[in-house]
Amino acid sequence: MTTNFDIIVIGSGLGGLVAAAKLARSGKKVMVIEQHNIPGGAATSFKREEYKFEVSLHAMDGLKDGDSKYKIFEDLGINKSINLIPEEDLYHHIDKKNSFTFWSEFDKAKYDLSNKFPNEKAHIEKYFETIFSIGDGISKIGKLNPFLRIILVPLFPFLYPNVVKNMKKTIGEHIDKYIDNEELKVILLSNLMYYHDDPYKLSLIFYAIAQTSYYKKGAWYIKGGSQKLSEALSDIIRAHGGEILLSHRVEEILSDGKKVTGIHCKQISEREGSLLTFHAPVIIANAAIPSVVKMIDGKLAERLRKKILNLQPSNSLLNVFLGLKAPTSSIGNAFYSLHVFDNDDLTIKTLNSSFHKDFDERPFIFVDYGNIDSGIVPEGKSQAVICTMDYIDEWNNLSREEYRQRKEHVARTLIERLEKHLPGIQDLIDYVEVGTSKTMERYLGTPGGAVYGYAQSPEQAILKRIKQKSPVPGLYFASAWTFPGGGFSGTILAGYLCALSVLKT
Ligand SMILES: Cc1cc2nc3c(=O)[nH]c(=O)nc-3n(C[C@H](O)[C@H](O)[C@H](O)COP(=O)(O)OP(=O)(O)OC[C@H]3O[C@@H](n4cnc5c(N)ncnc54)[C@H](O)[C@@H]3O)c2cc1C
Repeated sequence: MTTNFDIIVIGSGLGGLVAAAKLARSGKKVMVIEQHNIPGGAATSFKREEYKFEVSLHAMDGLKDGDSKYKIFEDLGINKSINLIPEEDLYHHIDKKNSFTFWSEFDKAKYDLSNKFPNEKAHIEKYFETIFSIGDGISKIGKLNPFLRIILVPLFPFLYPNVVKNMKKTIGEHIDKYIDNEELKVILLSNLMYYHDDPYKLSLIFYAIAQTSYYKKGAWYIKGGSQKLSEALSDIIRAHGGEILLSHRVEEILSDGKKVTGIHCKQISEREGSLLTFHAPVIIANAAIPSVVKMIDGKLAERLRKKILNLQPSNSLLNVFLGLKAPTSSIGNAFYSLHVFDNDDLTIKTLNSSFHKDFDERPFIFVDYGNIDSGIVPEGKSQAVICTMDYIDEWNNLSREEYRQRKEHVARTLIERLEKHLPGIQDLIDYVEVGTSKTMERYLGTPGGAVYGYAQSPEQAILKRIKQKSPVPGLYFASAWTFPGGGFSGTILAGYLCALSVLKT
């Protein structure tokens, strides 16, 4: 077995795979090491009985010509291997006072919002105008050539005033400034779960970038499941001479005291595998930064350790995977993504506390993959997921049996709540499985099962994000934990930027 490489990538989540694919295509000898027996990290699926369950992807934002992901896919040569399916509804929001369909076709959604809240028409215009001017402004800044960008910095307050003046703002502050109606605010922030559990801690700039893309270019699913994207990237790596070593966990990053030089890894199997050593002058960590820092010699990692000391991870998510005997359209559900906020006293001020309520009140999202042409549901049946915020403290210190019982209880509670909004769903259920923050922690190796890297608060977002090139010579990052952040778009971009940064040196 070859033991010397140009680049070793720890972890095969999207960030790691994109970085490895770009570097392999650029002629580098790349080795990806993944602890699981399948590449993809969260971008994966698993099979139970006849169902192929999607682990993560509900919606990916903006995939049209001109979008940076589109260009990345083109550059990597995978745009023909994946087929993107548009989602008609961004979400259908339900709470005790309102139900509202936020269509992916933005003008239709805005028109419906203004009709539903006529007194807020002018405010709605202003609210979106600012969101778009931030999203578009950042996109323009990103497209400037680096030299011009530096020269233009003093002019940014005039060229991109909304970007500059909102750097420290949260989406909660923004919405309070423009919108008066509390019910409308909740509808507008119905997909908050895709970013954070607290609108008053979520960076307005980060939110505006992602939402501008959703609003202007729609929401998309990868036909056949997100594993298709992971497979397409893996194929590119292998086709360009790269290797992917599955079922091996990296335990240590080696160094000569000044820079990284390689890794130690072990096979994950029933019997303890022997220690393998691979050498490379460049190590890319797709694995979570807080875990990676523990793998490096203390002195060499000192600056990095200090940098991340006070950073807060994002939330985790809980999934109740449902195998269904038929699509929910058979019981009258016309929507792909149903967002249920059926707790009392709902305002955006109480959103954070509602995510911390017990599962009989916690807001949740229900996605039925049979209501789009997802390509993952068995003939005549469907596959769906109930997804909600999750916190690992609620699952720690339980015995095996207590953990199993709690999972069963949570699944039952959420299904009973769904039944109230979708009568007949219980009779359609054929298979149930629960994945908690503990599951995420185990499968992704992220602290607390965090799914979006470091939380996107103004103190940790955009310019404050950890850069691809780490303070440890030879060590780079390509994951949700680095710039620009989590989600499919964030990690694809993070991986690509990482590869460019490596190629520059
Ligand atoms: C339930 C859920 C729903 C989501 N929904 C959406 C959505 O609808 N839209 C969206 O855009 N995003 C969504 N996300 C977020 C998105 O999936 C993630 O932010 C993104 O996939 C993270 O990618 P990553 O590159 O950071 O790596 P990860 O997916 O975190 O993978 C890291 C990989 O590193 C491996 N690894 C860790 N440590 C080691 C080690 N020591 N040795 C070897 N391998 C190691 C892990 O096994 C894993 O494969 C969702 C996530 C979840 C979990």
